[in-house]
Amino acid sequence: MDTNELYMLKQVLRIQDDQKEQFIKIFGKKIFDHQRQESLNNFIHEVGLEIFGITDLRQQLDFSEVQLKAALHFCPKEAINFDNSRADQRRDVIYAYLINNHKFPENNDTVVIASSISKIVGNWEQDREKTNLYLSPLLDKQEGKCAHCHAKIKRGNNNLTQPRKDIYKPYYKNRTLQNPEIDHVKAISLDGTNAIENLRVLCKMCNRGKSDKAISVKHELSICSKEIEEVTVANISRLFYHRVALSDSKCDVCEKSNQELTIRKIHEDGLFILSNLRVICYKCEDKKTSR
Ligand SMILES: [Zn+2]
Ligand SMILES: [Zn+2]
Repeated sequence: MDTNELYMLKQVLRIQDDQKEQFIKIFGKKIFDHQRQESLNNFIHEVGLEIFGITDLRQQLDFSEVQLKAALHFCPKEAINFDNSRADQRRDVIYAYLINNHKFPENNDTVVIASSISKIVGNWEQDREKTNLYLSPLLDKQEGKCAHCHAKIKRGNNNLTQPRKDIYKPYYKNRTLQNPEIDHVKAISLDGTNAIENLRVLCKMCNRGKSDKAISVKHELSICSKEIEEVTVANISRLFYHRVALSDSKCDVCEKSNQELTIRKIHEDGLFILSNLRVICYKCEDKKTSR
């Protein structure tokens, strides 16, 4: 590891979440600019970010993710899920790993780096534990249902009844889409917190489909004329989430907000786009089809 890399690493690991401005000052705005792929490429090349394992440029490089990736890259297995009753400290384990495996010098700089890594990994574990603890009570409060589409969601090893063969809600193709996932109502990146008031449980399908960005016309164009069976689950989830959000998680027919929701095309021969979809609960859908 050369001096530049060491310097870079130290900067990345030291900066707190509330010091993004400082980070931008040091490295320029490039890393936050997802659109300008080229400058991001240059940046990664320039400062050797590839050593942190960031190879997928399509992925959004949120600063805390970069930091966590950097920390994990220099973290031995032993330091993850660290047993706090041990005589030594997580920091010491990381320090030894840096020296023995990454050829770091035995000096105070390395001690500082090891401490930073230890802190970042520790915080991440704490947050993860906290949100996992909340899963069960939150799910109880939501009566075992997804907060967005109101589907019953899987819990532990219990088996839900066989899902419907609904191509607009392809649980039947992939049962893990019914798994519960913690969702931050206000995203961490928008200053949301891990406090329980900011958490809710969604089914994996809704959580996958959630995105802060609006669906662009270009995006709709790329899938709108396909048969639903040919659209990827990720794209169906995205339209599903956003369409249900537009109706405020209520059925467009009965306006109830406690029934499991799905979506249907309004005009069967029309396109698979938000404006040609409506939200309907299975009760109303069953009434419609039995008529
Ligand atoms: Zn859902
Ligand atoms: Zn309804």
